[in-house]
Amino acid sequence: MTDLHRLSIRELSEGLAGSKFSSRELTEHYLKRIEKIDAQVQSYVTVTPEQALAQADAADALRKSGMANVLTGVPVAHKDIFCTQGIKTTAGSKMLDNFISPYDATVVAKGKVAGLVTLGKANMDEFAMGSTSESSYFGATRNPWALDHVPGGSSGGSAAAVAADLAPFATGTDTGGSIRQPASFCGLTGLKPTYGRVSRFGMIAYASSLDQGGPMARSAEDCAYLMNVMAGHDAKDSTSMDQDVDDYVANLNGTSVKGLRIGIPKQYFNVAGLDADVKARVEESLKKLEEMGATLVEIDLNMTDAYVPTYYLIAPAEASSNLQRFDGVRYGYRCENPVDLTDLYKRSRSEGFGPEVQRRILIGTYALSAGYYDAYYVKAQKVRRLIQQDFLKAFESVDVIAAPSAPTTAYRIGANLTPVEMYLGDIYTIAVNLAGLPAINAPVGFDKDNLPVGLQLIGNYWSESQLLSVVHQYQQATDWHTKRAAIAEENA
Ligand code: GLN
Repeated sequence: MTDLHRLSIRELSEGLAGSKFSSRELTEHYLKRIEKIDAQVQSYVTVTPEQALAQADAADALRKSGMANVLTGVPVAHKDIFCTQGIKTTAGSKMLDNFISPYDATVVAKGKVAGLVTLGKANMDEFAMGSTSESSYFGATRNPWALDHVPGGSSGGSAAAVAADLAPFATGTDTGGSIRQPASFCGLTGLKPTYGRVSRFGMIAYASSLDQGGPMARSAEDCAYLMNVMAGHDAKDSTSMDQDVDDYVANLNGTSVKGLRIGIPKQYFNVAGLDADVKARVEESLKKLEEMGATLVEIDLNMTDAYVPTYYLIAPAEASSNLQRFDGVRYGYRCENPVDLTDLYKRSRSEGFGPEVQRRILIGTYALSAGYYDAYYVKAQKVRRLIQQDFLKAFESVDVIAAPSAPTTAYRIGANLTPVEMYLGDIYTIAVNLAGLPAINAPVGFDKDNLPVGLQLIGNYWSESQLLSVVHQYQQATDWHTKRAAIAEENA
């Protein structure tokens, strides 16, 4: 079979179960594609052929013994922020270029229990700070739709790997949009779950009160399969929710679009930087949902102007605290020939962290310092609560809220946005993290340069099933999610 990379997760599962192909054949097929194409895309930091083939053989043996699960033998790419025992975990940073974790992240461990085969670790913005994947110490990942464009970030490697058919699905993390925005830029479906739905244990921390792992794939159905693996309570993460998990695959048709009330925030469609093509495609997708029976309801989200300043105080504040552990002493990068302890700290951190990470540590340290703490950090926390209340009020009259995932399509590589220009691009995603809500991106068409546009649907707490179900039904009625990136077409 030459087109294994075209199969959906359900088709892969059925093909493996029906012995149409083995996990070894499937894994070798993906490894060959990676070897052939990934030099152009650079979606992986580390590819792990030996482990992958060993896992594939184990999966095949398990299947022969009749003990296989639904995903036994299906390959996956993990964002390089999830710790993997025995495989390098870099978080896109020079600081962790030599770091091999002694344990697996819970998400990775659950993947192993489910029988997933790890193809490798996907590139990302350094410590997940960024929107382009250009801040990776290992170089920029390319957008499979146009190689001179970015795939978005920070989970840009995960997005590019799936969009180039170099992995059937991938894990990502989303602190302020890092699943939804790269999914949007690469024409994929990506789900940011409710805060606490997926364990953060072994997921390198950026901003702990915002970070959440989730699936990235071609369709809502594929995402549902990975969500079934990732979701659930974990005693090792005190912020993970001790609450039953849905069967996201079984629930794919559980929510009817008929009668669904979709909130359209007035303020969101008047944002200054909103690209005309993005606006048009999103509006067309909403029209389609309306034809399918949904009701569009205009709503107010009055705190929109506060999103960017609030997030860019809270996220760096938490980052400055979390990143203190990288001190050159216990693990990670250490500078050459330190003269004393202070010199070791200073130089290890200035040589090991890139400019964006250093900027955030400085902003965060400033916001948390005595004398500024109340004026900045505490105030931002109060505004955060107002933003959450704004959403909860909206959910009294609507079931989901619609928005673009990003104001633009993918930027050119090297577009050299100023930090503030880049931060403004996060306007549609960051409030969801501040409120801890779930949200999904679905591809809904293309701009004039044939770059993908994404629709975001934001749900109330624990409504992952509903979001996946609505997008699944939209995808049954449309074919945007079946379109393939240029590089995948060329290497069909
Ligand atoms: N672009 C946002 C930032 O730089 C979001 C990143 C993320 O979700 N990890 O912080």
